[in-house]
Amino acid sequence: MAELEEVAADILTGRTHRHLVDVAGSQNLLTQKSVLVHKKALKPFMTLKDEAEKQGFDLCICSGFRSFERQMLIWNEKLLGVRPVMDELGGPINLIELDPWQQIQAVLRWSALPGTSRHHWGSDFDVYDANAMPEGYQIQLTVSECEGEGIFAPMHEWLNSVLIKGQQQSKGFYRPYAIDRGGVSPEPWHISYGPIANSFAQQLTGDIIRQQLLDNLELVSLDTVLKYLDEIIRRFVRVSGEDNL
Ligand SMILES: [Zn+2]
Repeated sequence: MAELEEVAADILTGRTHRHLVDVAGSQNLLTQKSVLVHKKALKPFMTLKDEAEKQGFDLCICSGFRSFERQMLIWNEKLLGVRPVMDELGGPINLIELDPWQQIQAVLRWSALPGTSRHHWGSDFDVYDANAMPEGYQIQLTVSECEGEGIFAPMHEWLNSVLIKGQQQSKGFYRPYAIDRGGVSPEPWHISYGPIANSFAQQLTGDIIRQQLLDNLELVSLDTVLKYLDEIIRRFVRVSGEDNL
């Protein structure tokens, strides 16, 4: 295997912007801020976007880079009951009925532990087809949007045909959360630029994750996270698709 280019811990865990560039014309639909991606992922994404355009799709990113702080805000709000936590069928879960470890597992099904989100890397994007959206449509990022009669299904079918054909045609992109392995829920809208993501995934060690958490004592349920950290990493951080994990 080729020698990995060493990546600093603050880049792996979303604590810096220095590895990022702006995707012109894209906006995060929640924050209305411009979308940031890893410098080396921009050109491959633009090539994939050009290919999509030839098929009539406007492949856009609704979520690229997300910072540690932003992920921690989402995490804390979910565990504090400010933001809803959903069950498998999309109904809200009443966290109060669960013990702390069950609460954390319910959140991890949909939201990464801060410091471990693939969105920290700038190599991973949630995508949609802007051409398919009626005016005023609110993107939900649900499986039903991406399959069957879903409005983004035609673009995802095209992406399926491209992504399975390997490095050359897929421009290096793949879906890390394509199927349900019991950890993170399937996310067909999430694509990953392999040449960066594989390297980052291998370098994001348990020690780095633990240190980030110890540096951020305001994380809700920190004690329980630390107690179960090895299991969290095994079930919710290590997804297949990376080499040598
Ligand atoms: Zn995502």
